[in-house]
Amino acid sequence: MKITDILKQDGPTLSFEVFPPKTSAGYDSVAKATQEIAALRPHFMSVTYGAGGGTSDYTVGIAAGISQTYGVDVLAHLTCVSSTRAHVSRVLGQLKEKGIQNVLALRGDIPEGGAPAHDYQYAAQLVRDIQAQGDFCIGGACYPEGHPESPTKDADIDHLKEKVEAGCQFLTTQMFFDNNILYNFLYRIREKGITVPVVAGIMPVTNGKQIARICKLSGTYLPERFKAIVDKFGDNPAAMHQAGIAYAAGQIIDLLANGVRHIHIYSMNKPEIAAGIQASLSEVLK
Ligand code: FAD
Repeated sequence: MKITDILKQDGPTLSFEVFPPKTSAGYDSVAKATQEIAALRPHFMSVTYGAGGGTSDYTVGIAAGISQTYGVDVLAHLTCVSSTRAHVSRVLGQLKEKGIQNVLALRGDIPEGGAPAHDYQYAAQLVRDIQAQGDFCIGGACYPEGHPESPTKDADIDHLKEKVEAGCQFLTTQMFFDNNILYNFLYRIREKGITVPVVAGIMPVTNGKQIARICKLSGTYLPERFKAIVDKFGDNPAAMHQAGIAYAAGQIIDLLANGVRHIHIYSMNKPEIAAGIQASLSEVLK
């Protein structure tokens, strides 16, 4: 099913993300985690894509397994900045062949020293190319705190609007730990006329060391009450796991109570995180 049709259904949606292995050595463990996450029957699952294109076969393979073997709708990510039009066209052909209808069109991070290919500068160009190559349901990324390269939030939202006008039919947000940032973002994009559904991306942080790396990469704002949790429980893995799930579940309950219906969990190939979130929300997600 197309993600846009899933998002039109009554009631909230919960989806989970997996990332493919970097090499064939990691394939079996990713496949096992994927199977366990798929067994939770989320509304859909997404499979990330290596910016350098190195894992494109794995993305297609893992995504095909999710839809064909486990019967869960799937969203395949595709990045373009280090890629060529010919490669993108090949990957889209493979996705079509496997019956995968949903693509998250991304630029990807620009590698240090610049991108090795120059066919694409921005995700909007990829959106247009995907549209030209068949009946795909196309999503895109958005940044409640503004994309780190963007000079202002307003400029970022203007470019987001161009991406939506190019054919992007839904958006998934970068992680955020303070819901007010999302509410403000939603207000601003709606005011600018961006009306497509927005799926809120939630990262349950269950490992104290993970948080410093995540924030360095994305520049995500950490509220004091979240920092206090990491300070208190960061060195105790079992306590941090429980507190991280509880914090994410609390965020989601607040989102649902305030009319945000679609939740995507950055589950990081961890079935226990996906299962923990789902169990914490069994009643509120009905
Ligand atoms: P774009 O939409 O192209 O935006 C990038 C920057 O360019 C922004 O600052 C934007 O404001 C600016 N911009 C856009 N158009 C113009 C214009 N015409 N003129 C000037 N500036 C412009 N990375 C991966 O490698 N693999 C993944 O699977 C992956 N999945 C992701 C999923 C989600 C939900 C999110 C939020 C991010 C994901 N990323 C992934 C990371 C993403 O690739 C990076 O954040 C990347 O830096 C930007 O990608 P984008 O598609 O948002 O780019």
